[in-house]
Amino acid sequence: MRGGGALHGGGASPKSRGMTLRPILLWPDPRLRSRAEPVGRVTRDVAALADDMLETMYEAPGIGLAAPQVGVAKRLLVMDCVKEEGAAPRPMVLVDPEVVDRSPATAVCEEGCLSIPEHFAEVERPAEVTVRWTALDGRPHEERFAGLWAICVQHEIDHLNGVVFLDYLTPLKRQMITRKMQKLKRERARA
Ligand SMILES: [Zn+2]
Repeated sequence: MRGGGALHGGGASPKSRGMTLRPILLWPDPRLRSRAEPVGRVTRDVAALADDMLETMYEAPGIGLAAPQVGVAKRLLVMDCVKEEGAAPRPMVLVDPEVVDRSPATAVCEEGCLSIPEHFAEVERPAEVTVRWTALDGRPHEERFAGLWAICVQHEIDHLNGVVFLDYLTPLKRQMITRKMQKLKRERARA
């Protein structure tokens, strides 16, 4: 996810050897519409993919990235919604995440997406969610997310189900942005 206007600075990116930037798929792309497969066991390859995704996300810059956005149809996402200047980054890796509880209260947030650059729109979602996932150490984790973290984790889990934030907009608005993205992709292909 790309936060509306308030973006995470690139300066806090924790770098380590062996990380590789991965190209981010641009909407529309059939790979952004398919349901991703469970990861299951956390292997070294899964950890390497998570490292690459974190570097790609920080570099973009974004606050969340799901594996299908880099062309990997697996249920894995990374995020870091720490925005305060000078605050320590909190890179999170969620393997096979699942929303197990949603607050009845909702929040409206302006969302953007690294796969749909330069387009932002307000989306209403549950304000808080409890998510269960497998961490890189292979252990189960559960956490209640609020604020931007809650919005971001829901946006990224949507990607694992082939859903993008445009799906919450009116068909007219969705078509308008999709046409602009098709034009952008044609221009980039020619460049
Ligand atoms: Zn996105």
